[in-house]
Amino acid sequence: MNETPQVTPEILRQIAANASPIRDTDVEVLTEQLGRHPRGLVGIGARCACGNPAVTITYPRLPDGTPFPTLFYLSLPALVKRISRAESSGQMEAFNERLANDPDYRAAHERAHVSYIERRNLLEDVEHLADRSAGGMPDRVKCLHALAGYALAVGPGVCPAGDDALALVGWDTAVCHCQDPAEEGAE
Ligand SMILES: [Zn+2]
Repeated sequence: MNETPQVTPEILRQIAANASPIRDTDVEVLTEQLGRHPRGLVGIGARCACGNPAVTITYPRLPDGTPFPTLFYLSLPALVKRISRAESSGQMEAFNERLANDPDYRAAHERAHVSYIERRNLLEDVEHLADRSAGGMPDRVKCLHALAGYALAVGPGVCPAGDDALALVGWDTAVCHCQDPAEEGAE
């Protein structure tokens, strides 16, 4: 087992505008959110209004050395559940139709893909991951969770499909839903 490298707050901010260092309670909260220990955690990409982690930032190599492409992972149960509902109600088809028919949207999705890899490379350019990002980028929308997590961490205007996913589920970053019993738990 190798240690996950330490990351400075400056690097975290370059990776994502809303990123912040790991706090004492984060690993415990994340373990509950994810149902497992967060491996390779280097920072929090975004937080709920209450301070709970909403998006993890994971080093591109897990502690056992496995290359790991998913830099941003949506962990906040209330939001995970809303996005799952949007996916299971067939919303992804609309995203993919738009990508197929709207050249500007497609170009922005491709730029989001490139930006994702550039951000990950600030941690380490893992050769095996070279052109892989997440969520179906650069040419598809395959996982709204991955895109919404990315958008929540980096802020609006970088990943339009993620911005749209957050808007679609009516996510307001100023409101905490962690104690809302109807929205607890991931699906
Ligand atoms: Zn909260």
